[in-house]
Amino acid sequence: TPKLPESTLLVLGATGMVGSALVRQAKQLGYGEILTPRSKDLDLCCQTETHRYIADHEPDQVIVAAAKVGGIHANSTYPAEFIYKNLMIASNAIEGSYQAGVTQLLFLGSSCIYPKLAPQPMPEDCLLTSELEPTNEAYAIAKIAGLKLCQYYRKQYGVKYHSAMPTNLYGPGDNYHPDNSHVIPGMLRRFHQAKESGADSVTIWGSGTPKREFLYVEDLASACFHIMQQESPADWINCGYGDDVSIMQLAQSIAKTVGFKGEILNDPSKPDGTPRKLMDNTKLRQLGWKPKVDLEQGLALAYQDFKQSLAKDEV
Ligand code: GDP
Repeated sequence: TPKLPESTLLVLGATGMVGSALVRQAKQLGYGEILTPRSKDLDLCCQTETHRYIADHEPDQVIVAAAKVGGIHANSTYPAEFIYKNLMIASNAIEGSYQAGVTQLLFLGSSCIYPKLAPQPMPEDCLLTSELEPTNEAYAIAKIAGLKLCQYYRKQYGVKYHSAMPTNLYGPGDNYHPDNSHVIPGMLRRFHQAKESGADSVTIWGSGTPKREFLYVEDLASACFHIMQQESPADWINCGYGDDVSIMQLAQSIAKTVGFKGEILNDPSKPDGTPRKLMDNTKLRQLGWKPKVDLEQGLALAYQDFKQSLAKDEV
């Protein structure tokens, strides 16, 4: 790994929630140059454009934080887009980096790469041991392909290409779309609107019994740099908070954060998704990393961001 002050970092997906947190931290770490192409300047689904951009800019390190993402509803409604775009982004970024002589690349995946009925917490080595959760299989297959590309490029070519697998993330810059977002931004919006309109109940999707683990995006960014700074990191490392909550508990915490005092109802006609997906974060902890922001603090920060976006008319 080249010394930081001289090195150039390329962050793909720099305007997204994860990418912008990575860029904020990269600035603090003192990289010489940080390249942050926007999607209108660089179409990562286009092989020619992507390979040319990387060859022209000659970064020392690349982080692939670009992806087509969405919550349970978006994943099951647009599976073709989720598999195609994420496969293209992974292939073009990884092969383009290799051709341009990039010696280190970090690929970001997701906890949904692990089997639906994986042991809980899920260790890295339960990958590909049984079937995936059907509601996000298309996305998961593309992310598994990205992880395997890195693993095999490293094996065959000796380049330091490796992956980080984050749990469910939230924080500033999230997507607050009412239907296509993940559960935290979706609920922040729903509970905020219920409070503002004086509604006496909010209906959450599904049974409320699935459990999810949530990591604040700044903690994920610190985990990524922590992993990249290792001499020889494992091919893929889980990035999890280490604890999970039920969707109903989450709804109660969000109601408290927002100041909504009414009733919380369930809509069993909406999908629950996988019953639980808590990551085993032993590997990452053994490298000396731990999260700094707990769910209560993180939800308060995320709610601030939602209100700012609302004020700027961005959501
Ligand atoms: P998943 O982790 O891939 O299942 O994706 P989500 O973050 O979209 O959903 C997590 C869980 O929260 C699922 O069991 C959803 O049914 C439940 N949920 C409850 N209310 C909402 C909501 O308003 N939006 C979303 N996206 N999920 C919700």
